[in-house]
Amino acid sequence: MPAHETFYEVMRRHGVTRRSFLKFCSLTAAGLGLGPEFAGKIAHALETKPRTPVVWLHGLECTCCTESFIRSGNPLAGDVVLSMISLDYDDTIMAAAGHQAEEILEQTIEKYDGQFILACEGNPPLNEDGMYCIQAGRPYVEKLRHMADHCKAIIAWGSCASWGCVQAARPNPTQATPIHKVILDKPVIKVPGCPPIAEVMTGVITYMLAFDRLPPLDRQGRPQMFYGQRLHDKCYRRPHFDAGQFVEKFDDEGARKGYCLYKVGCKGPTTYNACSTIEWNGGLSWPVKSGHGCLGCAEDNFWDKGSFYSPVTNLGVTGNVESTADTIGGTLAAAAAIGVAAHAAASVVAKATGKKKTQPREEVSNG
Ligand code: SF4
Ligand code: SF4
Repeated sequence: MPAHETFYEVMRRHGVTRRSFLKFCSLTAAGLGLGPEFAGKIAHALETKPRTPVVWLHGLECTCCTESFIRSGNPLAGDVVLSMISLDYDDTIMAAAGHQAEEILEQTIEKYDGQFILACEGNPPLNEDGMYCIQAGRPYVEKLRHMADHCKAIIAWGSCASWGCVQAARPNPTQATPIHKVILDKPVIKVPGCPPIAEVMTGVITYMLAFDRLPPLDRQGRPQMFYGQRLHDKCYRRPHFDAGQFVEKFDDEGARKGYCLYKVGCKGPTTYNACSTIEWNGGLSWPVKSGHGCLGCAEDNFWDKGSFYSPVTNLGVTGNVESTADTIGGTLAAAAAIGVAAHAAASVVAKATGKKKTQPREEVSNG
């Protein structure tokens, strides 16, 4: 398969009709929270641009980001991996191994110097000259720096690459370090979460391919379209929070009635992510919907902030609990530069991936 083929050419070669292709573009625009007029722009980009080369590296991590990515329902990861991007190297899912695999890195640099996206899952440990993560006989941090020198931009998948995550928990013996603190001269797009939501991951890649630029980011480097609001802002249990109706224990009457989980530790009031709108498993559910509070896994330092089962603040939840939570959230909101479009983006994705169970692969395949 020639690497210079466009996404459209690949789809046509697989027997996809033009009508299905345009339908795919409309769904993608909706999934990104963009207006219908952007469907044409996406179609034009996918028809004319060569597929984007991507190198996907793994540092200290558990591979949950890859596990999440391959379960994306909109667009299906298969569409993204096999058609929209040219995934030249991924040491988890590639067929090559050993020297043959490592040679692909150099070949990618030779062919696409300054043009490929470097997708990083996990982080490099810096202690002991990087010896806590050795790949192909050398410290991972060396491999990361080498590839970063030649890439166009970096996507930091998940909370490990974005913030450090549990391997950076105090006292952080390996000095696990997030990507943006190691690579200082390339743009780093943080897509945090443990793992990130599948549709958020594929949505970020789709945006970069279609528009040939980084998605709008907040001050922490996260795409605004997916990280522009708190879970608390769109949580279906929010009316119970506002009414002061809380679960006190996981087996009490409030839990059975579906009351708010704030008192049993829900971090939704301070967590920026799209779980309460896009949800998980193709829009089937999310932790709060299954009766457990949010752990705040998309936020920096969530692993060292104390018990997952303690309320967000120590100020109690009587009286002005809402203003307390909103004060905390409001402070973060200012820092995160919420975009108005974020609500629309997440809502449309929720519709596309949720109740209707839209399946772009079927759409594009069946005509
Ligand atoms: S505290 Fe948690 S459960 Fe309660 S409304 Fe906010 S996000 Fe939902
Ligand atoms: S609900 Fe909270 S802990 Fe769960 S995935 Fe979403 S941000 Fe992470």
